[in-house]
Amino acid sequence: MTDLDEAIAAVRADVAALHAELVRYGLVIWTGGNVSGRVPGADLFVIKPSGVSYDDLAPENMILCDLDGNVVPGSPGSDRSPSSDTAAHAYVYRNMPEVGGVVHTHSPYAVAWAARGEEIPCVITGMADEFGGPIPVGPFAIIGDDSIGRGIVETLKGHRSRAVLMQNHGPFTIGVSAKDAVKAAVMCEDAARTVHFARQGGELIPIPQDKIDALYNRYQNVYGQSSDDRR
Ligand SMILES: [Zn+2]
Repeated sequence: MTDLDEAIAAVRADVAALHAELVRYGLVIWTGGNVSGRVPGADLFVIKPSGVSYDDLAPENMILCDLDGNVVPGSPGSDRSPSSDTAAHAYVYRNMPEVGGVVHTHSPYAVAWAARGEEIPCVITGMADEFGGPIPVGPFAIIGDDSIGRGIVETLKGHRSRAVLMQNHGPFTIGVSAKDAVKAAVMCEDAARTVHFARQGGELIPIPQDKIDALYNRYQNVYGQSSDDRR
């Protein structure tokens, strides 16, 4: 096996296994949702096949794509179609080279905020730690061209948040690795749920920006969150 073959095999195993986390945390139903991971050092990524049950996902049926979202012919799994969100994932990898993983779900609380086109305000310290501010809303966009990918990149480029709520649709998250993007998807749903509950009881108390900055910097740089930990 070449180094590239080994790298692809590792990402296939990683991406297949990480899908179980979407189920574990209640972020997906039926065959919805998808995780992808970039192959380090190559213009390739691995993504979930379309329409396959979560119980049947395995390294060998993950699909290898180039950064234009085309399936690599003859690779394992290439007899199936990749996730219908593949073009959006590919657009993110093409335009954000620092991204190593992308996740999309229709997790219910996050979708509820997206359906209102309302960003999730940063009113809990855990959100300041993880996202460094509010979780923003991206534009309304539908499958069929680059518009979802463009909306994700335009919203998240230069933003601290690793999650965007695409309006009327749901969350897309990014990370330095597929695992990091999955963590962001889990934390995004947790923030969406908690802030929703909080607002039912009364007015939300904003956290001052300087405190948000301090929390974010501490958590990202000091508190055991080195980029190694996220890979
Ligand atoms: Zn979707």
